[in-house]
Amino acid sequence: MNPQESALHYPLGDELPAPGTTRELAPGVRWLRLQMPFSLDHINLWLLRDRVDGREGWTVVDCGIDRPETRAQWESVFATQLEGLPVLRVLVTHLHPDHVGLAHWICGRWSQAGQDCRLWMSGTDYFLARVGRDPVEGFGGEPLARFLGAQGLNAPETQQALLARTPYYPSLVPDMPRSYRRMVEGDLIDIGGHAWRCISGRGHAPEHIALHCEALGLLIAGDMVLPRISTNVSVHEDEPEANPLRDFLASIDKYLPLPPQTLVLPSHGKPFTGLQARIGQLHAHHADRLAEVMDACRQAPQSAADLLPLMFKRPLDLNQMPIAVGEALAHLHLLWHEGRLLRGMDADGVWRFRVAPQG
Ligand SMILES: [Zn+2]
Repeated sequence: MNPQESALHYPLGDELPAPGTTRELAPGVRWLRLQMPFSLDHINLWLLRDRVDGREGWTVVDCGIDRPETRAQWESVFATQLEGLPVLRVLVTHLHPDHVGLAHWICGRWSQAGQDCRLWMSGTDYFLARVGRDPVEGFGGEPLARFLGAQGLNAPETQQALLARTPYYPSLVPDMPRSYRRMVEGDLIDIGGHAWRCISGRGHAPEHIALHCEALGLLIAGDMVLPRISTNVSVHEDEPEANPLRDFLASIDKYLPLPPQTLVLPSHGKPFTGLQARIGQLHAHHADRLAEVMDACRQAPQSAADLLPLMFKRPLDLNQMPIAVGEALAHLHLLWHEGRLLRGMDADGVWRFRVAPQG
């Protein structure tokens, strides 16, 4: 939790939209909150009144995971919150299951002959989602277990448990629309007569798209800037030498020039103002973590798994392990790419990081 949350302001107060209903934030902009069965127990979605190809309706931003309960929450929204109008298109900020999981269902449900309810997404995230949900080539399985083993999760029982796990991504994203429209950095999308500008960001997802509407003073931030928790930044098995923390810290600075009074619409938590303060907090948070990691490596060489008790001061279950190891590795990799740490694979097949002579 963010210890400096008091530097942020919640102009809408504590009132949340009740399940299956929405709350209006600006003319034609509605906030929808779906429940999720995880420790992160909700996601915020946004409904934007729109007109596409002469048809009146709604654009939805992000979708929720594919679970019967989530579909039921959507059905209630369709029946009571859309003023009898259709969903015209689906914009998705990035490939994570809570954002893209139901895109195939919403697009399919609202498409008819000659009138596609189109998915809009970045090209990188769209194609990675299609690969990731593949039962054979998708995320998880043996490549993930091998990757985590090389970061120190190499106890035989841990490896067996990792291999026995149902791959989570295909279970929450069982399908993807087979066509889409690409969103790219700098694109201006007309939604209901207002221009929304795409701002791409890296480090959390390969090509996350946030949307800024200057006229309405709103930033749909996705997962890039959250008020209470720090955005997950992880190295993943498909890009094992990546430096996502450098990418993330550079990406959030792209929001610094936005007007200070901008109302930030985050995917988790409540809409807030104080964007620039929050970006400063995130930089300070990661600087502290990097200093802790350097200190630990000065004591003894560290693998990502070695750092878990230092970085996560709570027990982690098997499902949290990949994200936690990936996050520890992201901090190690920033320091390694900067030349402050050196890495070497020890005889047990584990990457360990030690302080460079000039570090
Ligand atoms: Zn995400």
